[in-house]
Order: sequence, then structure tokens, then C-alpha cells
Amino acid sequence: MPTASDFERMLRGASLRVTAPRIAVLSAVHGHPHADTDSIIGVVRQNLGAVSHQAVYDVLRALTAAGLLRRIEPQGSVARYEARVGDNHHHVVCRSCGSIADVDCTVGHAPCLNASDDHGFVIDEAEVIYWGICPECTNAASSS
Ligand SMILES: [Zn+2]
Ligand SMILES: [Zn+2]
Repeated sequence: MPTASDFERMLRGASLRVTAPRIAVLSAVHGHPHADTDSIIGVVRQNLGAVSHQAVYDVLRALTAAGLLRRIEPQGSVARYEARVGDNHHHVVCRSCGSIADVDCTVGHAPCLNASDDHGFVIDEAEVIYWGICPECTNAASSS
């Protein structure tokens, strides 16, 4: 887990002013990968006290635009944020409870990640979401 001075360095590296809310949001997302905005607000308030929803939304938007956070929004889910950026990893989402896990790399033949026609675009990312049922939901279903 990065320290406050690591977060300061990340903000400066992205040419962002270092503020307490920005550090608190970075820290909350690092500690709670794939958290939604409401959970992030909860964690930030534990650390900073009263912070408005709008302030946290604004910080999330600024950090995402600066590339320090990545926003993912699986279909049917609210936006979630993670601090693992720039590695083009993918996600598996539970259809039942909505829990999300990282999938490092997509391998094999299907679904194929080489676009059959890139239409002249320089492609640097492919977004893949796997859907299924997580182990907890599978266990809950089989034990009931
Ligand atoms: Zn589940
Ligand atoms: Zn992730």
C-alpha cells in the first residue's frame, strides 16, 4: 500500500496540485479496488471528516482524467474506480452480486482480441468484461 508521500508524488507526476481530498481519494481507491463512488465517499469521510459528494466526484473526475485512476462501468453497474491503470487488464463480474475481480490477460482464441479490421485506427486498448457467477454466490446457491 503506497504512503501519503507516494500519493503526493503521483499527484505531482500528473501535474496536479496536492490537496488533502485528492490524497484521501487516491488512498481510498488504492485500498478498495473497484469501489463505487458511494463506498469511496464513505472511506474518504472516515479519514477526512465532512467532504461533500460533489467534492469527491470532482476529485474522481480529475484523477481519472489525469490517468491516476481508471473508471470502469460494467453494464447494469454504477461506475467503479481502480488505481491499477495503464496495463489493459480486464474484469470478471458476478451476475448475481456484482462483485468484480481483475483478469490480468486475455489469452486463447475466443474472444479474439486482434481486431479483424482496425479501420486504420492505432489501437492501444481492448476492453473485455467476463460475466459469470462468483464463488460465494455459487456456494450460496448450492447450499440452499
Ligand atoms: Zn457473486
Ligand atoms: Zn481492475
